[in-house]
Amino acid sequence: MIEVTIVALAAVAVLAYVLVPLRSGPRQDVPLTSIRVEDAEEKKRSALTALIDIEEERDIGKLSEGDFNALRTEYEAEAFHALVELDALEASPGGDGDLEDEISALRSKMTCSSCGALRPPGKACERCGAPA
Ligand SMILES: [Zn+2]
Repeated sequence: MIEVTIVALAAVAVLAYVLVPLRSGPRQDVPLTSIRVEDAEEKKRSALTALIDIEEERDIGKLSEGDFNALRTEYEAEAFHALVELDALEASPGGDGDLEDEISALRSKMTCSSCGALRPPGKACERCGAPA
């Protein structure tokens, strides 16, 4: 009977040895870059989601035009910084439908028509000085 116990214990030990690194391993080895990409993606996503939300709230009259404009400037700046960060990290865009459309709309709005550099919405281009 004791042999069965030993075999069972050995099996458990082997299983634990195999399973534990699988469960805890990958997160520990995530390169810093992908953590920063995830972080920037999250910032971009939440800023864009907020932009969509305030548009809806303005449409149903929950936000005044003035409040909407103030919030939009703020969220666009957040989205812009996240986009710049993602560009710097050379992240490939992850696709999910409507939000990606919003992102490309925002990106084209934030792209300088003269030199193609990303620039804050409503501001002159920092690279070539073209007016907003
Ligand atoms: Zn420019």
